Amino acid sequence: MPASPRKSPSTSFARSQELFDKANTLVAGGISSQIRRGERPVPLFFERAAGAHMWDADGNEYVDYVMGMGPNLFGHAPKFITDAVARDMRDGYVFTGQFQKELEVAEMVREAIPLKGLIRFASSGTEIDQLVLRLARGFTGRSKFVKFEGHYHGWTDSVLISVHPPLDKAGPENAPTPVGESKGMAPGAYDDVIVAPWNNLSVLEAIFKKHGKDIACVIMEPILGNTNFIMPRPGYLEGVQKLCRQNGSLLIFDEVITGFRVSLGGAMDVTGVTPDLATYAKALAGGFPIAMLLGREEIMKLVGDGSVYHGGSFNSNVMSISAAQASLAHIMSNPGRFYSELNGRGQALMEGLRDAARRTESDLHVQGIGSFFATSFTTREEIADYREHARYCDEEKHKRFVQAMLERGVRLATNGRWHMSSVHSDEDVDRTVRAAYDALRVI
Ligand code: PMP
Repeated sequence: MPASPRKSPSTSFARSQELFDKANTLVAGGISSQIRRGERPVPLFFERAAGAHMWDADGNEYVDYVMGMGPNLFGHAPKFITDAVARDMRDGYVFTGQFQKELEVAEMVREAIPLKGLIRFASSGTEIDQLVLRLARGFTGRSKFVKFEGHYHGWTDSVLISVHPPLDKAGPENAPTPVGESKGMAPGAYDDVIVAPWNNLSVLEAIFKKHGKDIACVIMEPILGNTNFIMPRPGYLEGVQKLCRQNGSLLIFDEVITGFRVSLGGAMDVTGVTPDLATYAKALAGGFPIAMLLGREEIMKLVGDGSVYHGGSFNSNVMSISAAQASLAHIMSNPGRFYSELNGRGQALMEGLRDAARRTESDLHVQGIGSFFATSFTTREEIADYREHARYCDEEKHKRFVQAMLERGVRLATNGRWHMSSVHSDEDVDRTVRAAYDALRVI
């Protein structure tokens, strides 16, 4: 296999470094979201992005798999979205009032997603996950909820718990200790959360036996995107759903990553399980900020009558709704073809990476379904939960890999998640595989 045709480890990031030094005098930490802090050798400054590619302040070009951490399902700045947004925003863009296009999007959502009910729009995944927890509590009159280790539901106090806890603080595997991941969290934030290992039904059964009458809901990433990409074990989701029904608790899917990415109907399509409530963001508006709660009508009625409070100045603004309408129209003109091409190219990339790993005798591990997947360094055949990831995956080596790929013109997310877009080409895939072959030889 030939080496990567461009970018050598001497790639310069001098201008980004200069700008980052300046940023540190103006912006706390020089960055505006925690995950960007981890970028090596320096958080990059970008000048332009188009399709599957980005250009930084030093003039380096990259094939991008960060893709906004998921939203850019059609690549950067697809013309059909920028045209729609530019056209619609000319007539005003923050009405803080209703307009017809919102209803068109709602109708498309109803057609697309197996869970039939009512929706509410918001602006970010973090806030919509707060609304869904409030609603579950309001509906059931209970306060506790179950969340799983390794799952992320935003950065607020009630859920920034045991996402990636250090193992020496995480407590027993079968009864994890809730671990807060930030200073300054309200001490009471831990009172109502029960942390469970995911993909383990017997532990959840024991939790329901003890706390069943107090559990408002179980919230999860139905396909775990924030830790190594992990699928639910066969029968697991059905088992969780049964426990919820037996105990009068609600099942919530956080489809912020999976929604409109893994399939038109998201993880519900892929797993065949339909929860009571589900949250969406990222890919719904092809890169514009949006979030959405979808739920069974009798539950959503509480949001409708205002007894469960929800607000937001920017909710359902013209740009985001316009982008969502254009995105859904684009996918829904031929969903079968859209997802088979997206997943097919992603699978080709996954195979190419596995092949590069074999040829370089590397322990690079690739796990996923094409439209998104994860890489890690481990000799394990499969990573099945957070503790396995924490125990058996070499995070430091992965950071070196991400940097080596950056130096070879491929931009990866620091947390190991790869997002395909519908405009990554065969040539992008080839170039990425060649860069990986080269990077794996040197790290
Ligand atoms: N839920 C999941 C599953 C996520 O991956 C994320 C973001 N990575 C969020 C919620 C929070 O979304 P946002 O960044 O839009 O606040």
